[in-house]
Amino acid sequence: MRTPLAIVPLLYSAISFASTPSELAQSTANYAVNTYSQAMVDSLRELVRYNTVAVEGISGLDNPAHIGFKAELAKQAQALGLDFTDHGYLVVIGLGDAKERFGIITHGDIQPVDSSKWAKSPFDLDETSEPGRLIGRGTEDDKGPISTALYAMKAIKDKGIALNRRIELYVYMAEESDWGPLQAYVKENSLPELNITIDAEYPVVTAEKGYGTISLTFADKPIKDGQMALSEFSGGFFGSQIPEDAVAIIQDASADFEALLESKATQHDGMHYQFSRDGDNLRVQARGKSAHSSKPQDGVNAISYLAALLGDRLWPSNSAGALVNFVNSQLGTGLYGKQFGEIAYSDNFMGPMTVSPTVIKTSDQGLQLNINIRRPVGKTAGQLEQQINQAVDNWQSQNGAVIADRNLYIGEPFVQTSAPHIDTLLRVFSHFTGIKDAKPIAIGGGTNSRLFPNAVSFGPSMPGVEYTGHSEHEFISMEQFILNLKMYTAVMVELAANPQ
Ligand SMILES: [Zn+2]
Repeated sequence: MRTPLAIVPLLYSAISFASTPSELAQSTANYAVNTYSQAMVDSLRELVRYNTVAVEGISGLDNPAHIGFKAELAKQAQALGLDFTDHGYLVVIGLGDAKERFGIITHGDIQPVDSSKWAKSPFDLDETSEPGRLIGRGTEDDKGPISTALYAMKAIKDKGIALNRRIELYVYMAEESDWGPLQAYVKENSLPELNITIDAEYPVVTAEKGYGTISLTFADKPIKDGQMALSEFSGGFFGSQIPEDAVAIIQDASADFEALLESKATQHDGMHYQFSRDGDNLRVQARGKSAHSSKPQDGVNAISYLAALLGDRLWPSNSAGALVNFVNSQLGTGLYGKQFGEIAYSDNFMGPMTVSPTVIKTSDQGLQLNINIRRPVGKTAGQLEQQINQAVDNWQSQNGAVIADRNLYIGEPFVQTSAPHIDTLLRVFSHFTGIKDAKPIAIGGGTNSRLFPNAVSFGPSMPGVEYTGHSEHEFISMEQFILNLKMYTAVMVELAANPQ
């Protein structure tokens, strides 16, 4: 049978229509940017003021910074004419009353910060130190996206657009520390049928690696006086940050060894070392570059590199010496655990497992090395656990060191197989960025997407651009902030007013 010629142009126009966002989505996105770009910055400035880090021993419900932050959100929501419900660890800000719902998932808590590393206070939005950038803790992760979502909703409300799906912005207050309260909430409450998380990367994230920690405590034991040894090795700040700082103190350091270290130090790209002497003790201070531990390639790991600098000899096995020997033998400066027994593996879509030492803590039993892993699909947790234990056992028996305590936590990777809105998200992304052929991606980080039905991540950071959340130089560029406002507004129109 012959195709009737008359339908060809119709088909063609249907296809070309589908490749760009609707007129309504585009005009509302433009309206949002023209009207609310500055208001969005003002909103973020207020949200950044609250140091919403988790405080040990204080419930998030009693934490004054969390209470203040939620009150600020309530105030902003009310001023914008959005409804606000406080569920304790979670607040929901809504627009519209349709029965079906579209959810946008964010979090209002942050990671710790080392204020001494910032040009201005990390809780005072810094718009001047680096023109074009809004610098502050939470600007990218995840307070900036909250402000963007608020003004996207406001633009839709201003335009009086009829919503077939109610829009709900979820702001969870313990994403960085404890998913328990959110897991309890999603069990007990009905959730939107369709969701995006705006806490990761574009274009669309459909797979997230599993988070894990290997904690090994190296027991202290006496070493002979008068021999060159490590009396101290410390470094790192928190478990999901690639460490920027590390320090070693070498007792009875020879002049030859000091000269060797100083010449080797110049070969470590991206590292800065400072040497100082106090009698026979040599102190080596190492500075690399902090990054989110799901993206170790964005940082320079001060613990790994300082260990490597000291790695020309096997150290006497007190706690610091054994720890450095272990790092050099099993981790090295690579990112993928290739020296660590048989543990390394990779998935075609999700990429390789990353294995990064992040923080060293002191305990009664010795020095605890925490290694953060991010693992793709391809091995079971049991298999990986067995391989880690095997490698640690082998190393221990070969080195005569004592690992006094060992704890493994191995989380599951997440793959989203049902997300009917992927094409809509990709269409909006391609239209506003000019990046054609955008495809779903996998990331190393973990988001709350896995707790909501049909959820995928959509932004806020561009693929291939360094992610600054969790680092000591967190910012969002003004250009990206505005682009996000365009894209989130368009997506809300497409998914809540023009449901497909
Ligand atoms: Zn985050």
